[in-house]
Amino acid sequence: MARKEEAYDPALVQQYMDSLYIKDAELERIKASIRENSMPEISVEDSYGKLLSLLVKISGAKKLLEIGALGGYSGLCLLRGLEGEGSLTSLELKQEFADVAHANLKQAGFKGRVEYRIGEALTTLQELENEGRTFDFFFIDADKGNYPNYLEWAIRLANPGAVIVGDNLVMRGRIFKAESTSPSVQAMKRFNEMMAADSRLEGVLLPAYDGLAIARVKTKSND
Ligand code: SAH
Ligand code: MG
Repeated sequence: MARKEEAYDPALVQQYMDSLYIKDAELERIKASIRENSMPEISVEDSYGKLLSLLVKISGAKKLLEIGALGGYSGLCLLRGLEGEGSLTSLELKQEFADVAHANLKQAGFKGRVEYRIGEALTTLQELENEGRTFDFFFIDADKGNYPNYLEWAIRLANPGAVIVGDNLVMRGRIFKAESTSPSVQAMKRFNEMMAADSRLEGVLLPAYDGLAIARVKTKSND
């Protein structure tokens, strides 16, 4: 006779798992600074941050690129994954957000390991290419309408075997509205399709948080 499983609310899974972690004072301080500065409270979740640290560590990435800094929460998690040398380049539209993030990372002991580049990320990405910069790890977490562009840039600036992580794949449910003609929803759908099936990538889409994708750059060529 088949065993009957207990019915449960999937939200309980995350609640239960979150309850097992010990709060991290440094990361709590960053979240407090985001509130104090009236910035949006949209940093990655605590366990998601742990995942970022772990992915950097497991992949052995040294040169990290983040698109969307906010208050430095994900930036600190990425930097924590480094063992030995390595550094983070973080792209942020708003000077005032980058200033908060920079102060937070200095306070966390990563002064000199992080570089903030202010302005439209698409412009900065072109500059990074002109400077001959390449990266081992990318975290895409900025304006959703540019996600497919950011992904193309990540592949262009990737060192062999680079890892790409993308956040907010379902945009708090907005992508399920069939009638949506919003350019950012259309762009996110395109991004998700690429992360799942682009021949240059080995990717997986995970139904956790607001949806996240992890891919490895298999080849940079399109054919
Ligand atoms: N990765 C952060 C959260 C980022 S929130 C964390 O988890 O800690 C998204 C950020 O992207 C915001 O700070 C926003 O100002 C920035 N952003 C939005 N549009 C951008 C653009 N065109 N170029 C660069 N940054 C942008
Ligand atoms: Mg996000």
